[in-house]
Amino acid sequence: MKIINYYSPNIGIKKRSAKSIKTIIIHYTGMQSERESLKRLCSPKYKVSSHFLINQKGRIYRLVEDFQIAWHAGKSCWGKYKNLNNNSIGIELVNKGHKFGYTNFTKSQLSSLIKICKSLIKKYKIKKRNIIGHSDIAPLRKIDPGEKFPWKNLAKKNIGIWHNCQLNLLKKSRKSKLFTRKDRTQFIKNLNSIGYCFSFKKKSYFNKTLQAFQRHYRKELINGFLDKECIIIAQNLSKNFKKTP
Ligand SMILES: [Zn+2]
Repeated sequence: MKIINYYSPNIGIKKRSAKSIKTIIIHYTGMQSERESLKRLCSPKYKVSSHFLINQKGRIYRLVEDFQIAWHAGKSCWGKYKNLNNNSIGIELVNKGHKFGYTNFTKSQLSSLIKICKSLIKKYKIKKRNIIGHSDIAPLRKIDPGEKFPWKNLAKKNIGIWHNCQLNLLKKSRKSKLFTRKDRTQFIKNLNSIGYCFSFKKKSYFNKTLQAFQRHYRKELINGFLDKECIIIAQNLSKNFKKTP
C-alpha cells in the first residue's frame, strides 16, 4: 500500500498510546476540490486535520501519524467514548459532499479505504462495531460521509457492521407505525447498545440521531421519523453486535 506523507501541523501536543486507538471515523471532505481540502486540513488557521485523506483516484495521503491526535471529530460521542479525537483514526474521503455536489465514492477510493482499514484493524484490534461515520458520532451537527457511503459492502469485508434481516420483511415495515411506546424505548436501548448516544434535551435531538441511523442503515428513507423497519434493523444489530462488558 503506497502512502504519501503530507504532514499537517494540526495535531495534539501529547502523543497517545496504541491502546487508546479504539475507533475509525469516516468522513467526506465536503469541499470543491482535493487541493482545497488538503490545504484546509494542513492550515494552522483552520485547526482541522485527519490521519488520512484518500482522493478519487485512490491515492492515500498520511497527514497525521497514528500516535498523534488529529482534529476531525469535534464534539462527539460513541458508546463510552466522548470527544472522539482522542480515541480515533480519522479518514477523509475526497467528495464535494451535499453542499457542492455529492457524488458516489469511486472504486479506487473505496479499495484504498478498505486496505487502510484492514491494516488499522489488525494493528489496533479495532472492533467492527467501532468503524463508523462522522454523522454517527455527531448526529446533531454532521451528515458525512452520507448515504452514498457503501456501509453494506464494507461490512461484507468485516469493516463496520450490517444487519441480516430479511429484505422483504423490512420493506413491508417501512413507514409502518405499528409499534408501541415500549418498542420506541427498546429502539433507543438498542441503538445505545451499538454505540449511538442520545440526548433528550430537545425533541429534534431524537430525530437527528434517528436520521444518522437511517443514513447509515436505511438510506432508502431518511426522514427522522421512527417506523417499524428501523425498529427491526436496530433490534437485529443490537442482538448481533451488542457491547460485551
Ligand atoms: Zn466529517
